[in-house]
Amino acid sequence: MKRINIAIDGFSSCGKSTLAKQLAHHLHYTYIDSGAMYRAVALYVIENGLVIDGKLDKPNLLRVLDRIHIGFKHDDATQRSETWLDGHNVEHRIRGMEVSRHVTLVSPVPEVRAKLVQLQKAMGRERGVVMDGRDIGTVVFPDAEVKFYMTARPDIRAMRRYNELKGRGVVVDYASVLENIERRDDDDLKRAADPLLKAPDAFEIDNSDLTSSEQFDIALGHVVKAIGVVTEA
Ligand code: C5P
Repeated sequence: MKRINIAIDGFSSCGKSTLAKQLAHHLHYTYIDSGAMYRAVALYVIENGLVIDGKLDKPNLLRVLDRIHIGFKHDDATQRSETWLDGHNVEHRIRGMEVSRHVTLVSPVPEVRAKLVQLQKAMGRERGVVMDGRDIGTVVFPDAEVKFYMTARPDIRAMRRYNELKGRGVVVDYASVLENIERRDDDDLKRAADPLLKAPDAFEIDNSDLTSSEQFDIALGHVVKAIGVVTEA
């Protein structure tokens, strides 16, 4: 069967990764969380003293950027792909609020984007990839055969993220999660380099009032149209 790339873009916490994982599992494709790569760069700058008074020390980040190694490894025990930074598994650390608060310091930096986009494009070269992010359908895989642009109301997204963090034992309050989501939405929409944008050929899905299986059925319908019948996973 024809293998394709699937691009999923949208705001924070609007169910992109849930849908991406469902599709990847169903199609036996590889799921790639591009946001994890920006989060890994954010963790690097936090841990290496490159955030001073809340501001990014950009000249020093650019000096070391080429030497920062970011990748994914599949964990057979958890059956999940985990994020690695310079030889360490950082999957857990990149999900906390401190990284969420700092990630939009690094994501607008064109040199950071160029490095990560190059890695992401290489991951999709053989096709058979479902990647989620902000610029996947517009910049990383402009030729993806199927593109989705996901939206949901901010209060619903904040509650999902709050529940997800609480479920992982992170101590956090709902108001600060909502505030962080709204600020990142704004930063991601307004930045000059590769802002969040709906690709003209993307299917828009507002999942505020959809269950994850309803959302999956809608998305799979579009994929089936592009590649023909898909056998069960
Ligand atoms: O997807 P997630 O919310 O984990 O992404 C974290 C941040 O990484 C986003 O707020 C955004 O600033 C950045 N990002 C990006 N481009 C992508 C994926 C994520 O700029 N393709």
